[in-house]
Amino acid sequence: MRKRELEILLEELKGFENPKIKLEQYVTPPGLAAFIATTAKLIGDLHTVFDLGCGTGILAISCSLLGAYSVGVELDLEALKIAEENADRVGAEIDLICMDVNDLRCREKVTTVMNPPFGIQRRNADRSFLKKALEISNVIYTIHSAGSEVFVRSMVSRHGFTITHLWKLSIPLRRSYSFHEKAFKYIPVEVFRIEKHESCNAGR
Ligand code: SAH
Repeated sequence: MRKRELEILLEELKGFENPKIKLEQYVTPPGLAAFIATTAKLIGDLHTVFDLGCGTGILAISCSLLGAYSVGVELDLEALKIAEENADRVGAEIDLICMDVNDLRCREKVTTVMNPPFGIQRRNADRSFLKKALEISNVIYTIHSAGSEVFVRSMVSRHGFTITHLWKLSIPLRRSYSFHEKAFKYIPVEVFRIEKHESCNAGR
């Protein structure tokens, strides 16, 4: 499936019904979800994919439509019900787990694809997601607010990982909270592909 075809399918998905600001619930725009999934497919990263904080499921669903076995992990049951409906709507098969990502344990190393809370409402929420992703993954695709490069770089290098790609993009965010003044606005983000060092993979 081409990126544009995937994007058109993803445009059919429902977003959050009652977005919870404390959990920093924002839907990844279809264009960005399709970009990440098609890039991951091309590089050969789509085997078992965990979407941490999957919300209404767009990232897990994108990867599943491109052939991955996708698992979405999310604290909010209401969001997970929409994720389930969304998967059915586009014929994607995904597994969903309702839990705090901080409590997740995984036996096998996976690819993580995530749009974590940016840590604006709850300080360090982005840090704990990245820490969990570094614990369970060989490869990570993660979306952060602009200006996160120094923090991400120092955290990944301490865990034996390296940033292989960094895309600085501007994404359209729909009005989802009453304090948003415009119907949508562009916000600058940084999307990282992070990989475990070769030497750390040896012997696995
Ligand atoms: N991945 C979705 C949603 C991103 S918003 C998308 O790309 O559209 C971040 C999501 O993380 C929200 O759905 C929020 O409910 C969830 N979340 C926040 N803290 C969490 C935690 N500790 N454990 C699991 N999910 C969490």
